[in-house]
Amino acid sequence: MSDPLVARMREFGTTIFAEMSALAARTGSINLGQGFPDTDGPPEMLERAVSAVRGGLNQYPPGPGVPELRQAVSEHRKDHYGLAYDPDGEILVTVGATEAVAASILALCEPGDEVIAFEPYYDSYAASVALAGAVLRPVTLRPVEGRFTFDPAELRAAVGPRTRVILVNSPHNPTGTVLTRAELEEIALLCHEHSLVAVTDEVYEHLTFDGVEHIPLATLPGMRDRTVMISSAGKTFSVTGWKTGWVCAPPELVRAVQTVKQFLTFTAAAPWQLAVAHGLRHELGWVSSLRAGLQAKRDRLTAGLSAAGFDVYRPAGTYFVQTDIRPLGFTDGLALTRELPALAGVVAIPTQVFYAHPERGGHFVRFAFCKKDEVIDEAVSRLARLGGTGGGPG
Ligand code: PMP
Ligand code: GLN
Repeated sequence: MSDPLVARMREFGTTIFAEMSALAARTGSINLGQGFPDTDGPPEMLERAVSAVRGGLNQYPPGPGVPELRQAVSEHRKDHYGLAYDPDGEILVTVGATEAVAASILALCEPGDEVIAFEPYYDSYAASVALAGAVLRPVTLRPVEGRFTFDPAELRAAVGPRTRVILVNSPHNPTGTVLTRAELEEIALLCHEHSLVAVTDEVYEHLTFDGVEHIPLATLPGMRDRTVMISSAGKTFSVTGWKTGWVCAPPELVRAVQTVKQFLTFTAAAPWQLAVAHGLRHELGWVSSLRAGLQAKRDRLTAGLSAAGFDVYRPAGTYFVQTDIRPLGFTDGLALTRELPALAGVVAIPTQVFYAHPERGGHFVRFAFCKKDEVIDEAVSRLARLGGTGGGPG
């Protein structure tokens, strides 16, 4: 049989996260690839999930989500960012941020419409744009003085008559950049000038370091009205397997996203929602400890990777470190990461798969530091062996 998969999805194959986690399992390597923590979320929050199941919260919740979670999200947005969202009509619970992004693009883009995204971008963005029959216009983030940023002129040049949406991920996976107010102002200006909708992926909103502040685009003047703000419990509470996310937006935008979402999944799993409501209300102290712990892990991993010979970009947020492999004598990150289990017993993510033009990111490799200290230490001591092997793959 010829390939039954629709043509527009053929280039996507298996995600790099699945490929690299399978490689780690097959080779017994340390997995610093796929971003998931190796420790659990707040114990009381986990108990809430158990008691939700035991207490009978096991049937379909309302389409927009369990009311307690919508209320808790509303309070959290208000307390944290001063943004008021009505739990009835301006908040929608989704199956993770992934579904929120997909439903937003599918809801807002006609075939042929254009979506701007900063590359390297989280892999689901390009797939969601392709599913919608829309066209992705990448704007490349490049290192400037050790931090990845965009050229405002390039961003401006990417906007055309068909541009409908700009997808903004900050704190940014995989570069670790947290967009500054000045950068967000550039984006906001374009949204106003060209009537664009901003879809913001803020899943790492709480994971910023050195006092760097995460600024939601929706807090900039006039932007609340044209922003679909997306977040998720996965990274904030170390429960990536719960797949519980949410959208906050004005009623007409939420209605659009929900119209699509209801036919993707109808609603998200109920018990997690009650537990995440508890998390947002009572576990932000736990999240502060997580953040402090992650900052120390970032320092641990960046020091180890530098000592092993990588050029390291110190992230201001997320739990990923972007590295340049060229000082070690390698040039092709995909080839290197496929060989890394044999060379060093470690798995990482080749950043090039997050580019529309892979050659722009061929020499970057991403490592995750949401792992126990001893795991990071062991990975780093193994990677120190690489120094002598440069000029191998790639
Ligand atoms: N966006 C980004 C930038 C991510 O790194 C991830 C992975 N957590 C997601 C979205 C997906 O989030 P979720 O697991 O909630 O679908
Ligand atoms: N967000 C995580 C990462 O970037 C995991 C994504 C996934 O497994 N799809 O590594």
